[in-house]
Amino acid sequence: MSKNKKIFDFVVYAFIFVFIFAFIIYAGKFNAFGKFIMGIEYKTFDIRQNIILSHKQNNKDIVIIAVDDPSYEYIAEKFGTWPVPRSFWADLITGLEKANPKFIAFDLLFTKRLGALDEGDLKLIEAIKSNKNVYLSMNFDNYPSQIRIPPQLPDNLKVNVVNGDIIKNSPMLHFTNCRNAMEELLQVTDNFGFINVTRDDDGIIRYIAPMFYYKDAYYPNLTTLIALKYLNIEPASMRIERDKLILDEKHKIPLNPDGRAIVNWYGKEGTFEYVSLWEVDNAIRNNNEAFLKKKFENKVVYIGTTVTALADIKSTPVSFMYPGVETHATFLNNILDNNFITHFSFKADLAISVILCFLIGFCILKFESVTYSILCSVSIILVYIVITVIAMQFFNVWLGIILPVLSATLIFVSAYITKYLLKSKDYEHTYRLAVTDGLTEMYNHRYFQEQMIMNVQNVSRYGGCFSLILIDIDFFKKFNDKHGHQSGDAVLRQVAQTIKKNIRTSDIACRYGGEEMSIILTNTAKEDAKTVAKKVWSAVRERKFELADGSWANVTISVGVACMPNNGSSPQELIEYADKCLYKAKQEGRDQVVSEIG
Ligand code: GH3
Ligand code: MG
Ligand code: MG
Repeated sequence: MSKNKKIFDFVVYAFIFVFIFAFIIYAGKFNAFGKFIMGIEYKTFDIRQNIILSHKQNNKDIVIIAVDDPSYEYIAEKFGTWPVPRSFWADLITGLEKANPKFIAFDLLFTKRLGALDEGDLKLIEAIKSNKNVYLSMNFDNYPSQIRIPPQLPDNLKVNVVNGDIIKNSPMLHFTNCRNAMEELLQVTDNFGFINVTRDDDGIIRYIAPMFYYKDAYYPNLTTLIALKYLNIEPASMRIERDKLILDEKHKIPLNPDGRAIVNWYGKEGTFEYVSLWEVDNAIRNNNEAFLKKKFENKVVYIGTTVTALADIKSTPVSFMYPGVETHATFLNNILDNNFITHFSFKADLAISVILCFLIGFCILKFESVTYSILCSVSIILVYIVITVIAMQFFNVWLGIILPVLSATLIFVSAYITKYLLKSKDYEHTYRLAVTDGLTEMYNHRYFQEQMIMNVQNVSRYGGCFSLILIDIDFFKKFNDKHGHQSGDAVLRQVAQTIKKNIRTSDIACRYGGEEMSIILTNTAKEDAKTVAKKVWSAVRERKFELADGSWANVTISVGVACMPNNGSSPQELIEYADKCLYKAKQEGRDQVVSEIG
């Protein structure tokens, strides 16, 4: 491959490269395209999460008391309704406290009563007032104020987040209304967190917000609050640095630009230890302290529903039937063990795409064989995908798959199309070289022979005629001797030009050999061929030829003409006839056209 050609190919490939990336960056600006790419990327995230599940260990200090289906029936038998009287929860708290749990967190809402408080409410308020390790939930929403006047939440529920703009500027974390808990509960405890979840377009929960924004203040997720207490951190010390919510030096929650964290899942539903509510209630009623201690001592206890009838079932990457309460457990586990996933930015994905495309481009250029370059490119992509799984498993990093693979595929396809286009141009060039004479740029002898055969076949099959003219320069040996070989070459070139100028484009001018040339005139009868021969002959004899030293000289030619069907019906016969005419011309004094030997 010549150096120029290499540079040319390189420029073409570089152009495609730049074009494809410009296209991707441009398309990335359109929401629909971004969403489309992200939608598929989410699926790859889910698959990776499922692949690496078996390598993850959940925190054994987190236990869930589940209002499961049997418990629901147990409650229905006892109380006849859901929700149960609040005295039931008061008894549960009092009973559990005997086992010294670290925290008791309710993923259930104790909303305000219509009318006066009943005995159960009062009992619950009392239980919560006297147990400072009980945490309660509230839910923000955006209901219109006609439905519910947005409540003013007590100041002591707010948390301070230094540099919290990510959260403040994230529309999905902004709320205009709140489903309030019982006022009387708000008066006895500050332990309120929020349990809002956000779903992606496909309904799956992949992100959880550690913080929300309501009426110009930050409020914590229930689990963030528990984590802070667990780690003995004062909420006032929280701050956001770059893209991390810093709880303390050891616990940092990486945030997406929308203020949410990407949850790393530990297993399908039931990964955390579950104890059925009915069992706990039984143990409390029977004073089975051993059971309670074994299950709950020093544990973070979440209480929530898993019962299908109560519909707190969420879709997550690892399961479509994931109890809401277990998402809290998972979130807490992520915070305590620093297990959150970090998603690299669009720019990082783009950089990876460039590297992949570069490698694949290299493969395509390097391997002549299609099979090899496809194998090599596919392996590069597969290796990359394996790397993304390893990155997620060992480094909690979410490397984009779709953008890099999509751009790599685009590069692969377009590089191939380009390669073939460039190659076919190469073939054209090589073919031209193969049929051309280097000195005169006329067709060479081989091409002449092929064309003779084709013309003979055409005329034999379809009738008609074609002619052949043979040309020989007169006394060329002497000319060479007198003026030198270089001048001889110059004359050959100029004779060739003169011939080409005086024939039609459908005529084929060849260098027959040495200083002999031939013209095949397709579909041309003898009389017309004679006219062309005369025209060429007189054009040569009337012009001057420039020699190597810049001087000028004359040459003459002898010409023989043959025609099919008149003078033969095979290439040999026709060439022989034309050659005989040429010989006759030479015999009769040169510098003339002869078309009959008779
Ligand atoms: P005539 O055809 O008139 O009978 O005489 P001639 O001298 O032309 O014939 P001959 O066939 O004896 O000589 C042909 C000469 O053409 C021999 C050689 O020096 C010259 N010749 C052949 N090919 C080339 C070429 O490529 N370049 C140059 N400069 N001369 C060539
Ligand atoms: Mg000759
Ligand atoms: Mg000659």
